[in-house]
Order: sequence, then structure tokens, then C-alpha cells
Amino acid sequence: MSVGSVETEVGSRWHALAAKVLSGGEISRDEAHEILACPDVEMPDLLAAAFRIRRKHFGLKVHFYYLKNAKSGLCPEDCSYCSQSKISDAPIERYSIANERVLLEGARRAKESQARTYCIVASGRGPGDREVDHVCNTVKKIKDETGLHICVCLGLLKPDQARRLAEAGVDRVNHNLNTSRRFYEEICTTHTFQDRIDTLNVVRESGMELCSGLIVGMGETPEDIVDVVMELRGLKVESIPVNFLHPVDGTPLAQKADLNPRECLRALCLLRFAHPTVEIRIAGGRELNLRWLQPMGLYPANSMFVSDYLTTKGQPADEDFKMVRDLGFEIVTGDHMESPCDSHDDCELEAAEAATA
Ligand code: SF4
Repeated sequence: MSVGSVETEVGSRWHALAAKVLSGGEISRDEAHEILACPDVEMPDLLAAAFRIRRKHFGLKVHFYYLKNAKSGLCPEDCSYCSQSKISDAPIERYSIANERVLLEGARRAKESQARTYCIVASGRGPGDREVDHVCNTVKKIKDETGLHICVCLGLLKPDQARRLAEAGVDRVNHNLNTSRRFYEEICTTHTFQDRIDTLNVVRESGMELCSGLIVGMGETPEDIVDVVMELRGLKVESIPVNFLHPVDGTPLAQKADLNPRECLRALCLLRFAHPTVEIRIAGGRELNLRWLQPMGLYPANSMFVSDYLTTKGQPADEDFKMVRDLGFEIVTGDHMESPCDSHDDCELEAAEAATA
């Protein structure tokens, strides 16, 4: 057998897996592990296969999210990756919840940055009732003025707090699982994995959408990554941010910098295969960990943060715009529920491919 035919055969397993997903199948845990172990030589095939799934559901569209750190530091929790925790000595700004003017200015900046979603993030175990009221009042004004889709990340929520946020017009709540149930106690001891699941259930019951993701690169095993990916599948989340650890001086994980860009791409491909219709977002640590391969992340993922993160800098928004343009992709700012397919030609092509696989 010639080398050429061996390579074609090797690469085709990813396209066969994509065809299974495109025809409505789900990947198994074993297949998830295979994706995480994809040899470097097969990466172009894996990315192309993941892109087929992305193209069917999201075309060439890219959704930008803009983060506002509404309350920084001062957190009593001990999440070991976080510069805002009580055990962090990181030299970050520390302030209590931002006033209405500051949050509105952030929303205007989100709009200028072509973001579709404005994420209001507050540090802490969970919000006080007065903080929830403040966010609710401000969200109504932001939506009236900008029409932005609003996601809030406020920590653990009680049912009544979630209900009030939903009534105020909050579209979505972010609360990351971050890692597997097994590994969770290695990265945090002040609350549990189950606490996080409980908050996601409370949000779901309130009628808001769920955004929940993970952090890759904290010392977890591939089994932990597969666990959290499957856990998110069970929760039927609408949006998954995939963070890559940005080790910050002053945190317990400061020395943990062992990811390479290809591992990041494999993780993004796994998310796309396991969650074909869900928004997959390249989140924190993008520039640091994906480095020159950043644009390739948008073959499996359909969304990213524009500009800065909570306590770390991102590349300038202009660079984000150029990256999307250079790929031939399109930033979309309208309604988040638009039809995902770029054209019927794409749908028909994928249907034909799925049928013949
Ligand atoms: S609860 Fe949130 S803000 Fe507090 S340490 Fe954990 S991740 Fe950081």
C-alpha cells in the first residue's frame, strides 16, 4: 500500500466520525479519548472534520462576547486557578460591584467591539440580594439602550435570585463546571462540583439559557476532560466556553504552563464533536496557549471573546477583527437565535455526505 493511501485511510476516520455526528449520532467516550489523542500528523484531518460539523450548524459565522469585570477580587473562595481568590497574591485591581454608569459604558464598548453578548461578571461565592437588584435594574437599562444579549456570571445562585434575573431580562447565566467531579476538589475546597451543578439546575428552572464550560491545563487527565464534556452534554447547555489555563503569578497554579497549541485544538475539536449544535467559545488563555494557531481554533469553535479578559489582557480588538476577516469568516452581531446554516447548498452537501458515509 502506498504512503498516500495510508494517509488517506488514517485521516478518513475523523471524517467518518463527523459523518456519524452529522447524521444525528453521538460520539462515545472512547471516541472522545481518540480525539484527545489524535496524532499531530492527523490534525489537519481532525480540524477539517470538526469544521464540517461547525459549518452545518453555524456556517462561517463568528459570535463575539465582551467581558466586563463588574466586581474584582475580594472573593472568599479558593479556586486555585483564579487571581481573584482569597489565596491569590496576584497584583490585580480589587473593587466592589461597579455602578450603573460603569456597566453601561462597558455595554457601549461591547457594542463598538461588534460583540453580540455582554457578559457581566462579578467575583465571589454568590451575590447578595442587593447586588442582584442592582444587576437587574442595570440590565434593563442596558437592554433598552443597546439591545445586547446579556449573560451574567455571579457565582452560586438561589432560586429566587435566578427568578429575579430572568424577570429583568437576563438571557443567560454563566457558571462553569471547569473540570470533572473527580478532579474538582483538587482545584477548589470551599465549594463543591455539586454546588455548581445545583446552580445550573436553578438557572435552567428559571428559564434562562445555560453557559457552562471548562478550563484545560490545570493538571487534569484526559479522563477528566472527557468527564466534564459528557457532564455538559447531560445538562444540555446552550454555550460552552473553553478556557486554557493562563497561569497567573500569585496563584497556586502559577507554574503550571504545560499546554501546547495542538492540545488546545484537540480539546476544541472534542467539544465540537460532542456538542455539534452548541455554541463553542474559545475563551481565556487563547492568545497565550494557542499562539500562532489561534485562527485554527475557529474551525471547530464558532465564538470567542473580543478584547480583554477579567484580569488578563487579550490581543487588541483590531487583531481579533483581522483574524476573523483573514479566515474569510463573518462576525455576526444580530439576534442570537438566527438560522445557523449559511446557505441551503451547505445543508444539502452535508446531508449528502452523511447519507453516503
Ligand atoms: S468563586 Fe469565582 S471569583 Fe471566587 S475564586 Fe472561584 S473563580 Fe475566582
